[in-house]
Amino acid sequence: MKLLKGFTDISDLTIWRSALYRFHALLGQRWRDRRVLLMGDAVHQTPPFLGQGLCAGIRDAVNLAWKLRLVLRGDADEALLDSYEIERKPHVRAVVASAKEFGKIIGELDPVAAAARDLRLRAELKAGTAETIRQKFIPDLVSGLIARDGDLAGRLFVQPHVHAPDGRTCRLDDLLQPEFAIVTAAAEPMAWLSDASRAAWQHLAGERVVITASGESGDAGGIQSVVERDGLFADWMRHHRAAAVIVRPDRYVFGAAGNADELNRLVGQLLEGLGAKGSSLPAPVTS
Ligand SMILES: Cc1cc2nc3c(=O)[nH]c(=O)nc-3n(C[C@H](O)[C@H](O)[C@H](O)COP(=O)(O)OP(=O)(O)OC[C@H]3O[C@@H](n4cnc5c(N)ncnc54)[C@H](O)[C@@H]3O)c2cc1C
Repeated sequence: MKLLKGFTDISDLTIWRSALYRFHALLGQRWRDRRVLLMGDAVHQTPPFLGQGLCAGIRDAVNLAWKLRLVLRGDADEALLDSYEIERKPHVRAVVASAKEFGKIIGELDPVAAAARDLRLRAELKAGTAETIRQKFIPDLVSGLIARDGDLAGRLFVQPHVHAPDGRTCRLDDLLQPEFAIVTAAAEPMAWLSDASRAAWQHLAGERVVITASGESGDAGGIQSVVERDGLFADWMRHHRAAAVIVRPDRYVFGAAGNADELNRLVGQLLEGLGAKGSSLPAPVTS
C-alpha cells in the first residue's frame, strides 16, 4: 500500500495477492530427447522487460505444431523435429538478450543515473530522434528449414488485408489453411511450376495463392486468387524483387524465387528439407 500511495487513492483498494518475482535469463541446453520436446518456460525464461515470456512459448508451440502434423501424416521425416531447437534456440537467445539490455535501462537503481536517463530520453522524444522499437528486436530465423540462400529466407511473411470471395475484408491468414503456400503477385509465376513440382505440392496439401491489386477474389483449378486492399504484399514483393515466395505454415518465408528455375529448385529444396521417406511424395526437383 505504501508503494501504491504515490500513484493512486488507496482508500478504496484491497490487495488480493502480492508476490515477489525473481527474474531469470535462462536457456535450456537440450530441447529434445527422443520423443520428449520441451517448450515454454520449461526450456527458457526471460526477464519481463519486453513482455516476451509467454510470446516465446507461443512461438515454440506454433513452430512445433505443424512439424508434428507433417511427421505424423508421413509428409516429413521425424528428423524435421530437430529443426525446432535449431530455429527456436537462437531466436529465444536473441530476445532474452534484448530483454536484459532493456532491463538495464528500465531497472536503473542509481537515482542520479536514472535522472540523466530520463532527461536524455525526454530530449530525444522532443527532438523527434527517439526510436520506436516495436517488433524490430524480434529476429528472423537464421537456420533450420529455410532455403539456403536469398534475403527473404527466414523472414516473417507479410499479412495483408484482403477481400474474401464472399466480399468481406479479412487478413490473408483467415483465408489460408495452416499449410505451406506458394504465393505470387501475378498468375504467370504460378504456371512456372513443373508437373513434378505441382504434383509434389498437391501431395503436401500446399496452397497456391495469387495476390493481386484488382479483380475478383475466387478459387479456380486449385489456385486461390485474392485481391489485397492496401498494396502491402505487392510493395513487399517489388521491394525484394521476388516473383514467388514459399511460405511455411507458421508464416515464415522458406524462400523466394525470381524465375521458373528458382521456383522449382526451391520446391525441391523444401522436399529435401522435409526428408519425407516412405511416403509417396515425388522425388525432389533438382534441375
Ligand atoms: C510478473 C510476470 C509478468 C509477465 N508478463 C508477461 C508479459 O507481459 N508477456 C509475456 O509474454 N509473458 C509474460 N510473463 C511470462 C509468462 O507468464 C510465462 O512465460 C508463461 O506463463 C509460461 O507459460 P508456460 O505454459 O511455459 O509455463 P507455466 O505458465 O509455468 O505453466 C506450467 C504449468 O505446469 C504446471 N505444472 C508444473 N509441474 C507440473 C507437474 N509435475 N504436473 C502437472 N502440472 C505441472 C504448473 O502448475 C503450471 O500451471 C510474465 C511472467 C511474470 C511472472
